[in-house]
Amino acid sequence: MNHWICVTCGTQFAQSQEQPQECPICVDQRQYIGHQGQQWTTLATMLKEGHQNTFKEHEPGLIGIGTMPKFAIGQRALLVQTAKGNVLWDCITLLDENTVKAIEQLGGISAIVISHPHYYTTMVEWAERFQARIYLHEADRQWVMRPDERITFWSGETLSLVDDVTIARLGGHFPGSTVLHWAKGAEGKGVLLTGDTIYVVADRNWVSFMYSFPNLIPLPSAEIRRIRDVISHYSFERLYAAWFEAIVQTDAKNAVLKSADRYIQAIEKGL
Ligand SMILES: [Zn+2]
Ligand SMILES: [Zn+2]
Repeated sequence: MNHWICVTCGTQFAQSQEQPQECPICVDQRQYIGHQGQQWTTLATMLKEGHQNTFKEHEPGLIGIGTMPKFAIGQRALLVQTAKGNVLWDCITLLDENTVKAIEQLGGISAIVISHPHYYTTMVEWAERFQARIYLHEADRQWVMRPDERITFWSGETLSLVDDVTIARLGGHFPGSTVLHWAKGAEGKGVLLTGDTIYVVADRNWVSFMYSFPNLIPLPSAEIRRIRDVISHYSFERLYAAWFEAIVQTDAKNAVLKSADRYIQAIEKGL
């Protein structure tokens, strides 16, 4: 019996003897089947292949964790350190002993919050290892491939996790796509963690919003207006999307608002 992992999206499945037939997350229009066809691996195989995790402190209290060489979608997770326990924002597939030790030295993990199904990965392994609860928006419940009692499906628009950490459903990319607002980040000016609900583009003073990133399927302008309205209620100076370099360093709220305006203009009238 194995917990098989999809090589293209990094999602781990419930235990089975045989490899699953297909990965529903990759069959979906927001992802794709790998060019070699559907392939599966396991955590044990990944370790044999020499994958390991690297850590990078982005700012005090915010540590990025990513896998080298790149695996699946290649995102990095973020550990948010708070006085009332650490929050792991988004997840990555590889969990090894070095990673466990390093995170324990940083204070462990109390809660795991994942922006959307593309980063569910091996969330249950992480939750078991750190005795943490997982918070997923109930709108994306159908995409959980390894159900577990440690998962809490939250509902509604916002959830306050600890004093300075609030999660908000933004929708767009997925109906339950979530962002995390960390009020103490950026020297108290506020930080927004966005996964790829809000995507930092090549010009890092701007962001974008898509239904599918790999297949370049945009969102309707009404959705962008709604997202813009939700964001307008939060204060933040800096924004961290899903990769080590995907950061809007300053004036990030204004970057999101002006990017939403540009996007609406582009799809409704042209620039
Ligand atoms: Zn997949
Ligand atoms: Zn995604």
